Amino acid sequence: MDDYMIKVMTDAKDLLGVACLTTTLVEDAALRHDTYPTATAALGRALTGCELMASLLDPEQRVAIKLEGDGPLRKIVAEAEGNGAVRGYVANPHVDLPPKNGKLDVSGALGKDGFLTVSKDLLFKEPYRGVVHLYNGEVASDIAYYYSESEQIPSAVGIGVFVEPDAGVTAAGGFLIQTLPSADEKLVDDLIARIESMDSVTSQIREGKLPEDLLKAIFDDIPYHVIEKRYLAFVCSCSRERIEQAITTLGRDEIGKIIAEQGTVDVSCQFCNKNYIFSREELEKMLEEH
Ligand SMILES: [Zn+2]
Repeated sequence: MDDYMIKVMTDAKDLLGVACLTTTLVEDAALRHDTYPTATAALGRALTGCELMASLLDPEQRVAIKLEGDGPLRKIVAEAEGNGAVRGYVANPHVDLPPKNGKLDVSGALGKDGFLTVSKDLLFKEPYRGVVHLYNGEVASDIAYYYSESEQIPSAVGIGVFVEPDAGVTAAGGFLIQTLPSADEKLVDDLIARIESMDSVTSQIREGKLPEDLLKAIFDDIPYHVIEKRYLAFVCSCSRERIEQAITTLGRDEIGKIIAEQGTVDVSCQFCNKNYIFSREELEKMLEEH
C-alpha cells in the first residue's frame, strides 16, 4: 500500500491533526542503509516524525531534524519536503540492542542526553532553526517537546515502527495533534486522556488501521473535516551532477592527488547510500574543466 498522510481540522478551528502511514518508506530506508532492528526503529521514527512535521508545511517548504545523543547510534538525520519526499540516515546503522519492556530500545540506542535540532526552510531569507534538549530519546516525545518549548505550540505526537524478527518493517506510522490558540483547556485535557488510553500506534497499524482511523480514534465525537491528503515516499535529491560538483569544489590540487593516489573516486550519498564511481578519465576531465 502507498504511504500517505491525512490532515484534518476541527470544525471549531481549535485543533489540527495529522496522521500518516509510512511502512513502505521506512522499509525502503532500512534496505538502503542496511540498518539493524533497533537502528531501523530509530530511523523509521525520525523519518515518520519528519514527515509529520513537513505535513504542516507548504509543498515547496522543507524541514530537517537532527537528533544527537550519547548512545551507540550517535545521530539520526531526516529531511522532509512539503511535497511528501523524505530522506535520512543514522550515523551507525548496525546498532541492535536487547528489547526493553517488549519494545525496541530506541532511547537506549540514541541516548537520553543530547539535542534535537530542527531547521525549517520556509522560503524566507533565513532558515528557521530551533534546538532543544532531548526529552527522552524516544523521538516522538522529543518532537512534541520541541513544539511546546521552541514554538510554544502544545502538541501530542505518537509514532510507531514495528520491525519483524527477520528485520523487515511491517508497520510504521504516526500522528501529530496541535492545539491552536482558541482551544480551551478542558478540550485539550479530554484529548490527552483519550490519546493516553488508546492502543499504541504500532498495534493500531498492525491491526490494519489507516491514518483516517487513527484520527477518528483521537477526535472521536469532536466534529472535524479533512483538509489535505498527501502521498509520502523516500526520495533522495542526490545526483551524479551534484556529487561531481562536490568533487570539483575540492580544488585542482586535491583532485590531482586523488588521481595520483587512487585513480578513481567512490562516493556514497550519506542520505540514501547510493554509490557513485568516477573513473580516472572522468576525474581528468573535471581537472581540465576546472
Ligand atoms: Zn542520495
